[in-house]
Amino acid sequence: MTHDDIATQAATDFEAQFGRPADGVWSSPGRVNLIGEHTDYNEGFVLPFAIDRRTWAAVGLRDDNAARVTSTFSDEEVEVELSSVGPDNLDGWSAYPLGIAWALGQNGVDLAEQRGFDAHLDSTVPVGAGLSSSAAIEGAIALALDERWQLGFDRPTLARVGQLAENEAVGAPTGIMDQSASLLGRRDSAVFLDCRSLRSEIVDLGFADAGLAIVIIDTKVSHSHATGGYAARRASCEAGAAALGVESLRDVGVADLDRAREVMDDETFRRVRHVVTENARVLATVRALRESGPLAIGEILDASHVSMRDDFEISVPQLDLAVVEAREAGAIGARMTGGGFGGAAIALTPIELVDEVTARVSDAFERAGFTAPEIFTVTPSDGAKREF
Ligand code: ADP
Ligand code: MG
Repeated sequence: MTHDDIATQAATDFEAQFGRPADGVWSSPGRVNLIGEHTDYNEGFVLPFAIDRRTWAAVGLRDDNAARVTSTFSDEEVEVELSSVGPDNLDGWSAYPLGIAWALGQNGVDLAEQRGFDAHLDSTVPVGAGLSSSAAIEGAIALALDERWQLGFDRPTLARVGQLAENEAVGAPTGIMDQSASLLGRRDSAVFLDCRSLRSEIVDLGFADAGLAIVIIDTKVSHSHATGGYAARRASCEAGAAALGVESLRDVGVADLDRAREVMDDETFRRVRHVVTENARVLATVRALRESGPLAIGEILDASHVSMRDDFEISVPQLDLAVVEAREAGAIGARMTGGGFGGAAIALTPIELVDEVTARVSDAFERAGFTAPEIFTVTPSDGAKREF
């Protein structure tokens, strides 16, 4: 089905479910992080882009104060009163869309006075592959409610609303990268985000013009058991910043690393070195894209992977194998992407070598006795929008 077909289907399904037409259909994409890993909570830099996998939300206001949500993802219909919606009475998948309503309430919207809404979701963002199916839901619902409730919030504010919903209503301690990419993304471009000031700039990627494609290798290794690892890495970063007497690792430069080595243990030092050099790599990537184009960023992607593998220690054998094999099959740069301990790798690949990369990585996984990976390409795409 084309994206237009899915949007139309979402409206048809809404009508079948709720017995009246939707006011409209809004959509928002998943995302891939090109570079800048574990830098967000250190007030550093990230460079994600929105992808051509989206979540569609057909939405219609009601005359009472109820909110009802359904999704192709689930058989259940969840209903709450807007006036009483909150982190304590939300759980499961519906906490993402209904958490947005609550988070808007936290931003000054009087929920008891608002008209309720019905919403139906459909999506092509795979769940749990590290492509942020969660931010795609948040972006679509946030944009729909902003428009139908005539709130006039700008997109950076809607991104913060999405983050608040995810942190408090869902209970996942994530940064603002995913929501920013989903709401601010632009075709053929990445979103260069400063996680300290929250300022963002659009950076041209030019992959297709340079004959390049982004291949995603979903290792199918679930990162759900990684909560402990993620918390431990955050704690190491805080310990490193404290040892250096700075508020966050954003305030540490590559030139400070010699001194850093002397005031902390080796493991903390390597965690710090990853974050500090990763921030430098994001800046180098932006510079290379602007001055030379995407053929110049391969080595930086490779260096990012080595840093995550050896210094931050968040890779797994499947990710390392995917990266090595993709490079040997002709990718010009490859790295694991996302929080680590599983999930996906990306490989920047000449278009004519995509089949070669796919075949070679699949074969290598089979020989190693690993679960078959899912391999596909994504295209940098527009962020959240109203479809009709
Ligand atoms: P991801 O990396 O894909 O964002 P998360 O764990 O953050 O992984 O979010 C996945 C969760 O989002 C799912 O477990 C589900 O609760 C919810 N979700 C994702 N897609 C949909 C959908 N189409 N409809 C309803 N809920 C969804
Ligand atoms: Mg998510």
